[in-house]
Amino acid sequence: MRSRSGPISGSYVKALTDLFYPQRCVGCGGRASDLLCAGCHGVLPVIEPPVCRRCGLPTAFDTPVCEDCKGRDLSFDSARAPLRYEGVGEEIVRALKYRAYLTVAPRLAAPLMVGSVRDEAGFDTVVPVPLHRSRLAKRGFNQAAVLAQEVAASLGAKCAEALRAVRATRDQVELTASERRDNVRDAFRVEGPVRGRVLLVDDVLTTGATLSECAGALKEAGAGEVHCLSLCRAC
Ligand SMILES: [Zn+2]
Ligand SMILES: [Zn+2]
Repeated sequence: MRSRSGPISGSYVKALTDLFYPQRCVGCGGRASDLLCAGCHGVLPVIEPPVCRRCGLPTAFDTPVCEDCKGRDLSFDSARAPLRYEGVGEEIVRALKYRAYLTVAPRLAAPLMVGSVRDEAGFDTVVPVPLHRSRLAKRGFNQAAVLAQEVAASLGAKCAEALRAVRATRDQVELTASERRDNVRDAFRVEGPVRGRVLLVDDVLTTGATLSECAGALKEAGAGEVHCLSLCRAC
């Protein structure tokens, strides 16, 4: 029998580490006691005020409309996001969307998102941006719907999947700004009546074209105001 005082084997250390830090950090993949390790938590790309009151873009001064959205025909009343779409922010979206790490929604994403609309008055309905059924079949779930349910639960509002994607669209990532608008034009339909203040939820705001198109459809269907909330925003 080998001596008990021999060198501690690597696998023994690993087993102990797994016991105390049973999961991987969503940001860096290192072992962590929570969804994010302390290092990644410290470098979360948080969007601090001032931001454009319309589109949520970080700005130098408090402004009702920034240079970016001035002159743009956006159908939503406001858009907010707690994080920039970069670094750890991007990793959180990837974990949720591509690795189906759904725990991220209630424990990390929704608390951050709700913090961005805490000062707003109550919302009547929380509505997710829909996925077309072809993409839904491929991914198995709609990440925006997962986020919307958690946000609605935190706000004490009802969640309704009132929007349908009536045609497949190309992935917005590969398109220019004007192509994005054409890509999503008339791509969404509202099912059932919508009233009052709606909070429209998505994972990432890139140019706002998808959110604007969805907001337009919701207003045509009877929504009084449409405010948008995404986990991340391109800045
Ligand atoms: Zn980390
Ligand atoms: Zn703006």
